[in-house]
Amino acid sequence: MLSVKTFIFNQIQVNTYVVYNENKECVIIDAGNQEPFEDAQMLNYLEQNKLKPLMLLNTHSHIDHVMGNKVIADKYHIELASSPIEKPLYDKVWAYAAAFGINFTQDRCLVPTKDLNDGDIIKVGDDELKVLFTPGHSPGHVCFYDAKDGMVFTGDTLFYRGIGRCDLPGGDYSTIEKSLREVVYKLPDDTIAYCGHGPQTRIGSEKRNNPFVTE
Ligand SMILES: [Zn+2]
Repeated sequence: MLSVKTFIFNQIQVNTYVVYNENKECVIIDAGNQEPFEDAQMLNYLEQNKLKPLMLLNTHSHIDHVMGNKVIADKYHIELASSPIEKPLYDKVWAYAAAFGINFTQDRCLVPTKDLNDGDIIKVGDDELKVLFTPGHSPGHVCFYDAKDGMVFTGDTLFYRGIGRCDLPGGDYSTIEKSLREVVYKLPDDTIAYCGHGPQTRIGSEKRNNPFVTE
């Protein structure tokens, strides 16, 4: 069984998820720790709970989701995995940070070395996260689905009563709409969605009530 610890990090208030099993193996989704106190919060949590990080996962390469990768990778010597479509975008993140008023320098940048493609399975001990390709908010966005525990990490594809913006480079409304209707909304209604920002929700509730894209 996989359990979830949520952190809210950086000025864009991203949800960072530590997903761990009974043997204390874990993966970290969208490490957004930015400030030294946030780095410490994350590293102390991992250490105090004796967790063994296996891999860093990114739903996509936007700055708020990637700022904490390097600090964790340096300490635990683990790889970062993302969609290969997002890979070229990582080099650009630090370059546009200033435009967002964010202090993020190249030395905190970590480029993914593992590819995640649609349908890939990420093993966390005996548990599994399945990669779902859900482009639209960004061109290589992916979600992570744990069918056994009935939960999905939706990144910036789906929020509680919202969806990710499509006006950033590589974003496209009709593509995110298709990802929601044909992928995310096909998951069982009672699946808990852990979103990239804001509170968690359930797939069925969004299918019926999301003001942007319904079933
Ligand atoms: Zn984003």
